[in-house]
Order: sequence, then C-alpha cells, then structure tokens
Amino acid sequence: MIDFRSDTVTQPCKNMRRLMSNAMVGDDVYGDDPTVNELEHYSSVKHGFDASIFVTSGTQANLLAILAHCERGDEYICGQGAHNYKYEAGGAAVLGSVQPQPLENLPNGEICLEKVVAAIKPNDFHFARTKMLSLENTIGGKVLSLAYLSEARSLTKKYGLQHHLDGARVYNAAVALGVDIKEISQHFDSMTVCLSKGLGAPVGSLLMGSFEFIEKARRLRKMLGGGMRQAGILAAGGLYALKNNVERLEQDHEHARYLASRINELPGFDSTPYEVQTNLVFLNVDSSIDIQAFTKAMYDKGINMTPGYQGMRLVTHSGIDKSDIDNFIDVAKANLA
Ligand SMILES: *Cc1c(COP(=O)(O)O)cnc(C)c1O
Repeated sequence: MIDFRSDTVTQPCKNMRRLMSNAMVGDDVYGDDPTVNELEHYSSVKHGFDASIFVTSGTQANLLAILAHCERGDEYICGQGAHNYKYEAGGAAVLGSVQPQPLENLPNGEICLEKVVAAIKPNDFHFARTKMLSLENTIGGKVLSLAYLSEARSLTKKYGLQHHLDGARVYNAAVALGVDIKEISQHFDSMTVCLSKGLGAPVGSLLMGSFEFIEKARRLRKMLGGGMRQAGILAAGGLYALKNNVERLEQDHEHARYLASRINELPGFDSTPYEVQTNLVFLNVDSSIDIQAFTKAMYDKGINMTPGYQGMRLVTHSGIDKSDIDNFIDVAKANLA
C-alpha cells in the first residue's frame, strides 16, 4: 500500500524497534522509568524549556497545555483552523470549561495580530478572561515566519498572555526554514511536538514549559488517565526519532513538491493554487470527477488516500519515495483515462 493519508502512518524502522525492545524501563507514574526521564530531559534541553512531559498524543499535549495555562471561565485565542479548536472534540471546553476564541487564519496560516489585540477581552465581569494565545506551526502545511513569531511574542508579553505553540509538525517548520528548533521554540511559554508523525515514532508527543507548568500538566495527565507505566519502550522510539529523523524531513518536503508538480499532469486535478512548503500537498479536483469513486478505484490498486470535497490532501512521509509518486501518477492516469 502507498499511503498518502497522513504522516501518522509511518512505521518504526528496524533500528528504532531495536532500541525500543532493549529500552530500560520502570514505572513512570513513580518517576522510575529511566528512558522516559531521559527523553524528557533531552527534550527540555533541545527545545530550551525548563521541563517536558511525555504524553500519549498531540491531542492530550494540547489539552494539558490549555488546562494548565487556563482556569474554568478563561479563554484562549486560536486560529479558526487550529487543531486544538477544530479537531480535538472540543476538549478544552468539554473537560476544562475553557472557551476558545477562534479568529480567521490568513492564507499563510497567520492570525492577524491586530485582530488578536482586538479580541482580548477587557477586565470586566461580562467577559471570559483572555489567558492565552495558541499558534500552530506548521498549520495546514504552512510555515509561520520567525518575524511573525517574534511579533506575536511581543504582543503576548505586552498583554500578559501565555503563548502556546501546537508544534505537532514544528520540525517540518524548522527544517523548511533551515533553522535550529530553538529559533522557533524561544518565542513560546509552552510547546508540543508530535513524535508519531513525520518523525516516525509509533506513539507519543511531548509538552514543554516551565517547571511549575509541567508539574501542573503531570497532575492533569494523571487525571485524564494518561499516566503510563513502563512507557520507556515508547519513549525510546521518541528519543530515536528526535536524534535521527529530523534532517530526513527535507526529503518529505522534496517529495511533496515533486508530487504537487506531477499532480497537474492529471486531467481535472490542480495543485497550483496551493504552495507546497512542507510535506502536505493540497489540490482541487474538478466537479466532473467523482472523487469517492476515484479514491475507491485507487485503493483497489494499492494507493490509499482520503477523499475530500472536490479536493484532497496528500501527505508525504518516510514510507513514500519518488518511485511511489511516479507509480501513483501512472495508476491515476490509467484510472482517469
Ligand atoms: C496531529 C496533530 C495534533 C494531534 O496529534 P494526535 O497525536 O493525533 O492526537 C495536534 N495538532 C496538530 C497541528 C496536528 O497536526
């Protein structure tokens, strides 16, 4: 199967599996797992935060961040397209009584900072208390500029907001910009990283922040049932991913650019409205094509992708090389003929 659905479908490589099977483990709820402790320490140093916590998923990392920064009746400002607004089952509202204040994302993924300032509620009992600005990088495959992050940081300092980054794919952003991860992370009070996407670990995310913040998150993680025992087996995969799988993201980006250029050879498919910056390729599909039937026919030929509404998102990752893309184009051409 050639799987374009997501970079979450990546399989752990042999070396990662070997490290995982040999990992020293202990009961992490007691703080006894040396491999989890190593990952959390490594992550804190690498990303420039006081402390880190290893959690089950990016969704849990975002939820812990929101619950640790905000109290019941607070709100956070985020993008209309933000994962932690749109794709996390409303967890902040459901489980934290924290209200999201979504604002439109511009085509480049930014939220207009003047609109952020305008959305900060005055200190008045009519309003929820605005506590935090949450950005996402990459967002829809787009990279936020360092200049923008710096401006957003100044804003959050000026207005006393916490500044959170949903960095599920932040390494794709760092690789696309050609900068050390700290050039991005330095602008935030807290940040998440998904180890289980392009970085290729099977399970897990990291949340980073101050000592006090991570201590709060640790209590909340337990409350949510996210305390794991011999989690070092998973953490070993995460450590391997951070140490070995960052530079290779550039290949995924190159493959995404190649895929986008070749997509346009298919009649009725058009990727030109969307600039490829990282590993996500977006395209429009002409209404004359039955996209459900097309993806079904492709699936029967060993190519897996998620149909959208007259469009699609295709994702490149370590399980897809250039010949897979050529193969995909050939099979698609035959299907469309
Ligand atoms: C995937 C993703 C998440 C959630 O990660 P899971 O591990 O799937 O829960 C959060 N934010 C963004 C931007 C993501 O892409």
